Amino acid sequence: MKLLEGKVTLITGASRGIGRGIALELAKNGSDVAFTFLSSPEKAAELEKELSQYNVKAKGYKSDAADFKASEELIASILADFGRIDVVVNNAGITRDNLLMRMSEDHFDEVIKTNLKSVFNITKAVQKTMLKERKGSIINISSVVGVKGNAGQANYAASKAGIIGFTKSIALELGSRNIRCNAIAPGFIETEMTGVLNPEVVKQWREAIPLKRGGTPEDVANLVVFLASDKSAYITGQVINVDGGMLT
Ligand code: NAP
Repeated sequence: MKLLEGKVTLITGASRGIGRGIALELAKNGSDVAFTFLSSPEKAAELEKELSQYNVKAKGYKSDAADFKASEELIASILADFGRIDVVVNNAGITRDNLLMRMSEDHFDEVIKTNLKSVFNITKAVQKTMLKERKGSIINISSVVGVKGNAGQANYAASKAGIIGFTKSIALELGSRNIRCNAIAPGFIETEMTGVLNPEVVKQWREAIPLKRGGTPEDVANLVVFLASDKSAYITGQVINVDGGMLT
């Protein structure tokens, strides 16, 4: 029997990057997968097909994680289609980098809404079904930047630090109902998000990492599989770095 057989997982923002890597790894381990996307319908359709090759149920939903009402509707649709949600991975995220001096109010609000309020939207909407089932695992994708801060990313760092506070609070609130909530803090992971960075800066980042390489979506996905599984049954309220030793 596969590690996640019989589980239903929701991942936000899985059309590409880390979310896509997580969806594939979960499916390989036997979980049914409901995932969301926003602006990449072709990539989402491709992923749906790829996931189905692992003999699991898979469906993509176009849904803006920053939208409270849409998130409630999303959870209702997934429950109608899948019957249950055992695991949630709050992954959807964006960057709008700039020095504070040049950061617009819109870019601050946009990042907070997409990265942080989305975690509130989805977690609040899903908690009812998890409370009824008396089990669940919520996994929030934060960042090393949320732990350490980063010049030029005050909006992003604030959103990712906010996720950590939210994660610890929910772990305290829902622990007695056997619902776990943990955060993952990835370091430098090579995706479209980091693909926009100056190659010289990327080279410097890689050299500064003790393991001397950027991470892959699979590096993050492997930890998600563990946190989604019952093998992590006694782990909650934690922030776990997947960063090649960056913050050591
Ligand atoms: P990415 O390649 O830019 O992918 C972002 C994903 O989020 C896409 O699937 C996108 O969907 C989705 N998305 C964006 N806004 C959304 C919204 N409002 N509602 C629903 N989905 C939305 O980014 P990534 O590198 O994979 O990052 C994934 C997560 O890991 C983010 O939370 C990011 O902050 C975090 N993280 C990344 C790194 C890194 O080095 N890459 C490091 C630490 C943390 P569409 O394409 O359909 O719009």
